[in-house]
Amino acid sequence: MSEASQIYEIIATETFDKMFGKLEKDMKDRISKKISKLVENPYSVSETLTGNLKHFRKLRIGDIRLLFRICEECKTKGHTSISPCKVCSNEMNKHIILGNIDWRGKIYQG
Ligand SMILES: [Zn+2]
Repeated sequence: MSEASQIYEIIATETFDKMFGKLEKDMKDRISKKISKLVENPYSVSETLTGNLKHFRKLRIGDIRLLFRICEECKTKGHTSISPCKVCSNEMNKHIILGNIDWRGKIYQG
């Protein structure tokens, strides 16, 4: 492939790690596979969210929604003003921050 493909680097938050740890092995495997696609082109496999979660994108995996942000968007869309991003203070645009796992819509309540 070409010069255009630049792999993103993944950083998981504690919240994500905690939620991920609760999942069964099958689902962990499915999510890991999806994440390996995500690093190639996070925009094409995800959708933006709205409202107070608009600094996140979501990726569907069965009943689960993986919420993440891309540091490029932290900056270009001003998302750090909604929710500070600890990662992208410097030149770290090609980073994906795995924020949380929404299981059966829990995150969207309240
Ligand atoms: Zn960021």
